[in-house]
Amino acid sequence: MTALLTFDAVEKRYGDTAALDGVSLTVDAGNVHCLVGPNGSGKSTLIRVALGLTRPSGGTVERPDEALGCGFQRPTFYPDLTVAENLDVFARITGADPGDWFDDALSRLRLDREHDRLAGDLSGGFAKKLDVALALQKEPRLLVLDEPMSDVDDVSRAELVALLDDYVTDERAALVSTHRLDEFGPVLDHLTVVESGRVLVDERAADLAESDLDPDSLQRSYVDL
Ligand code: ADP
Ligand code: MG
Repeated sequence: MTALLTFDAVEKRYGDTAALDGVSLTVDAGNVHCLVGPNGSGKSTLIRVALGLTRPSGGTVERPDEALGCGFQRPTFYPDLTVAENLDVFARITGADPGDWFDDALSRLRLDREHDRLAGDLSGGFAKKLDVALALQKEPRLLVLDEPMSDVDDVSRAELVALLDDYVTDERAALVSTHRLDEFGPVLDHLTVVESGRVLVDERAADLAESDLDPDSLQRSYVDL
């Protein structure tokens, strides 16, 4: 299996706080890899380190393929540009050359109908979907999303899960932090649970199922605390 991201004993300290306290994990190609844990457990820090946006205090991070796509807990588009203008600007900055598959993704997320709307006027759900679309535009092998499901309506959440499931082929992977593990259940390939900056559970979905740990019970144990 091809590893698209490897953490080995990664630490990130902020003063006295150990946001990451010796995290080791691998994101393999072909996997929808979910990251869950209570608020303040280190998910966003792990994602920023994974993307190379902040330097770890210790340990090593390997990203063999530099083509990353990222969506953040707070969307990062330009609010006074339209949806179409944001897509254009990001494509020019990242050198993305989106093809038909991307038009299809936009229509599946119902973003095509919002082309002329100012991004700053989008609802929470559509704002998240625009952020995901911007991350997808470059067709990255490793897609990294920080809580794409929060503040998103039921229909849009289902659209996002289905799109991620289709996007992740043998060549690609998605690392997604979420509070909606139950909704990712059907497409989940690998789960990492973090608490206080440490890895509590790190299992393939198939192994979780064998030990009778279904996503719904994991949701109750680790997310709905
Ligand atoms: P999560 O995304 O799981 O809610 P975070 O990674 O945002 O967790 O935060 C993990 C811990 O690190 C928290 O205690 C948080 O307060 C702390 N932390 C995160 N980022 C910073 C920062 N830039 N400066 C200081 N402390 C931070
Ligand atoms: Mg977070």
